[in-house]
Amino acid sequence: MRPYILAETNWQALKTTSFDLAILPWGATEAHNYHLPYATDIIEADHIAAESARIAWEAGSKVIVLPTIPFGVNTGQQDILLDMNLNPSTQMAILKDVIEVLNRQGIHKLMILNSHGGNDFKQMLRELGLQYPDMFLCTSNWFRALDKSKFFTHDGDHADEMETSLLLHLQPDLVLPKEQWGTGAEKKSKIKAFSEG
Ligand SMILES: [Zn+2]
Repeated sequence: MRPYILAETNWQALKTTSFDLAILPWGATEAHNYHLPYATDIIEADHIAAESARIAWEAGSKVIVLPTIPFGVNTGQQDILLDMNLNPSTQMAILKDVIEVLNRQGIHKLMILNSHGGNDFKQMLRELGLQYPDMFLCTSNWFRALDKSKFFTHDGDHADEMETSLLLHLQPDLVLPKEQWGTGAEKKSKIKAFSEG
């Protein structure tokens, strides 16, 4: 049992532990090309949150990782079977309820560890921060935390070399053999500027 993972710890352990920071990993359930599981973003969120929390815990930080929210904003992939969409307004409602619990119970720092490009929590946190002035709220996109080009040859986005490598490391039994990966071709926007930032 890892004492910094809420899903693994128990009420008895919590009687003698206090926490300063809650981490809320947030994923998505969606197709990842042909070869990666629908839970790719969830698996990444679970592992990156747990490993980060382990390092922080061992350095003396009082962190607790909440269970990963499995659905993200997928409004753009309506035609893909069982890509599960959670609207931003629904995410905002969930976030408010989570913050309400933490605020009431005296855990005044929350970090969202975002694992899905379609999720964007910054504006929500600005609004919720006004409603909960005692809370320190922040969000981090793990996939933007480091310069990818230092680690991977092929620049990509969704289900790219980075995600494929991560899944081959974290959960190789759920990755199809390389012959079935497809060409990796992606549909680009007709308006060039949209992909230029
Ligand atoms: Zn992904």
